[in-house]
Amino acid sequence: MIKITLPDGAVKEFEAGVSAMDVAKSISEGLARKVLAAAINGQVWDAARPINEDASLQLLTWNDNEGKTTFWHSSAHLLAEALEFYYPGVKFGYGPPGEKGFYYDVDLGDQTLKEEDLAKLEKKMMELAKTNEVFERKEITKADAVKYFTEKGDQYKLEIIDRLNDGEITFYTQGGFTDLCRGPHIPNTGFIKAIKLTNIAGAYWLNDEKNKMLTRIYGVTFPNAKELEEHMVLLEEAKKRDHRKLGKELELFAFSEKVGMGLPLWLPKGAMLRERLQQFLQKAQMDSGYLPVITPHIGHKNLYVTSGHYEKYGKDSFQPIKTPQEGEEFFLKPMNCPHHCEIYKTSPRSYKDLPLRLAEFGTVYRYEQHGELHGLTRVRGFTQDDAHLFCMPNQVKDEFKKVIDLVLYVFNSLSFTDYTAQISLRDKVDRSKYIGTDENWDLAEQAIIEASAEKGLKTVIEYGEAAFYGPKLDFMVRDAIGRKWQLGTIQVDYNLPERFDLTYIGEDNAKHRPVMVHRAPFGSMERFIAVLIEHCAGKFPLWLAPTQVKILPISDKFLPYAENLLSQLKNADIRAEIDDRNEKIGKKIRDTELAKVPLMLVLGEKEVNENKVAIRRQGKGDLGVTTIPEFIEMVNEEVKSKRAFE
Ligand SMILES: [Zn+2]
Ligand SMILES: [Zn+2]
Repeated sequence: MIKITLPDGAVKEFEAGVSAMDVAKSISEGLARKVLAAAINGQVWDAARPINEDASLQLLTWNDNEGKTTFWHSSAHLLAEALEFYYPGVKFGYGPPGEKGFYYDVDLGDQTLKEEDLAKLEKKMMELAKTNEVFERKEITKADAVKYFTEKGDQYKLEIIDRLNDGEITFYTQGGFTDLCRGPHIPNTGFIKAIKLTNIAGAYWLNDEKNKMLTRIYGVTFPNAKELEEHMVLLEEAKKRDHRKLGKELELFAFSEKVGMGLPLWLPKGAMLRERLQQFLQKAQMDSGYLPVITPHIGHKNLYVTSGHYEKYGKDSFQPIKTPQEGEEFFLKPMNCPHHCEIYKTSPRSYKDLPLRLAEFGTVYRYEQHGELHGLTRVRGFTQDDAHLFCMPNQVKDEFKKVIDLVLYVFNSLSFTDYTAQISLRDKVDRSKYIGTDENWDLAEQAIIEASAEKGLKTVIEYGEAAFYGPKLDFMVRDAIGRKWQLGTIQVDYNLPERFDLTYIGEDNAKHRPVMVHRAPFGSMERFIAVLIEHCAGKFPLWLAPTQVKILPISDKFLPYAENLLSQLKNADIRAEIDDRNEKIGKKIRDTELAKVPLMLVLGEKEVNENKVAIRRQGKGDLGVTTIPEFIEMVNEEVKSKRAFE
């Protein structure tokens, strides 16, 4: 007999060889029908796999992330089976699950696959799913695995096998399809009740531009039709909110192949929006004791050799900038931290100077492959709302609390109301890879946990997710349509103070090493603005809107009044424009609505005679007639309160 410990702590005895599915059935048949996989001692296994020793067991269903991942990964196998039916000889690369769905990279040889072929693949998948094909796991020797895929003629799988060790190779078979896979999988294909293949893209094998371009087929599946329907509605909504589309329509930013892909060009309206955000954070940071610094866009090679970034980015990023001086090399800055370390070193520091908080909106450059570039979310040059806090070990907790306050202030001001935080700590067992003393790590880890708890954050703790140089806290927000984005990060660092030999004189008159904390509430201006655009669908709150007010004279004869009104608004720091086109008022209103300008002032005979304005709100319509001073007062009040646009 073996002992199985359930999540609630209950311990049950079973014969050795029992499966998670058997355990589920012993609890209830209803539960067993929902089980997709199980976490055995924290590792996700097939529900049917025999358990031979005492173990902890957690049943995984559609409600668990690992349950969904297993479901989608299994769906990728189903897609492969359908592909093999229609495209005999197709070769398979990787077919992993993702955030929402799965994909499979395939080499179709000289056969082609078009969007319109996806429907017949979906139909075939559905047909196969209904036959309840069981996913069978089989351990196989490396030699046999090589033999199988050599006969099949799939060089991609052979390349993958080549990197695996004998004894760790498994095959999974469902119906007539066998794949090299470490699993796990759902019990059978019958769980898959709704299928949508969403799109086709190109992807280099192993993500390397030198390799062949494979066909990537994306899909998503669900255990019921209703969830698929909801998902499709959400996809439609996401398309409307796509920041690349809105960025173009609202004239916020552009890209030019001539300037270089992945290097955003901020247009006047986008630059205005970005400057507002920057000023907003700068003000909050000044209030929290940050000091501004500015550093150059390039740095000497030696700087990055010292920081370790040369090793990390040197070969795989932008190549050195040479000078007429033989052997002299500069690099585009991949990170601001090394520069800030050098600023720390410009004068001797004492414990009385700490914490020292150096802030910079610093632009950095990192090479990304062409295929990885995506609007403002994956770029080759971006500006971090960076700051580095240099403090004593016992100040880490207070600094975290202050940064959490700042991050929450940012979120609340931009109506991100649904957020969680992840605390990444050391591995519980293997601590060999971490730099810094155990004592300092314990202190910092405890500090992050306590600071998060005292600030009332909803957190998850992930062991083994810390960087080798320190623990960290990451914020995830859910946007208006429920998608998750990773935004701000707070990262403790024991490495750079060591590498740059940073010190301070303590109260004991001896030299000590400060702790460095990297933090960026936005992450980067580019990425944050992309998320913000999608979150508010381009309808920015009044305090951020590049154009806050559009003045719409009904006819040319009211233009002098409009000009006068414009200068009054400008004097009151309100960003306004006049629509002086020779168009009908109806069209002017429609166009302004589409441009998502929050406020419109319609000027006709009556308004001009009474020295008033008729206000319209984007998406809301008529708000009535008021005097100009009252209108200015209303705008200023809303801007000051940073009220989100309802
Ligand atoms: Zn698999
Ligand atoms: Zn940093």
